[in-house]
Amino acid sequence: MTKLFGNIALQPRDIAWEWAESRDTANKHVVHCKLCGKKMSGGIHRFKKHIMQIKGQVTSCREATVEIMRKIGEDMALKNQSKSHKNHIDAILTEVCFLHMKF
Ligand SMILES: [Zn+2]
Repeated sequence: MTKLFGNIALQPRDIAWEWAESRDTANKHVVHCKLCGKKMSGGIHRFKKHIMQIKGQVTSCREATVEIMRKIGEDMALKNQSKSHKNHIDAILTEVCFLHMKF
C-alpha cells in the first residue's frame, strides 16, 4: 500500500494544466480553458477532449493551436499505449494540420 501511494504522489501533474485552470476549489472537476475561457465540468480528461476536438462529449476549443494539440496528443498517446488509440490521435493531428494549412 505504501508503495502504491508513493507512486501516485510521484505522478507528474498533467501536461494539459498548462492551458487549463481550476478556479473552483470546492469542485476540482470544474476546469476553465485558458485559451478560450470555456468552463467545463469533467476534469482535465474532458479538457483534453475539448482541446483535441474529440466531438460528442464536449465542444471543441477554437483557440487551440496545432502545437498545443500535438503536445496533448502525444501525452494522451503515451498514457494509452494501445495502437488503435495512437492511430486515432494521429488521424486527428493529420486532420487538424490539414485544416490549419488551408487558412
Ligand atoms: Zn478552449
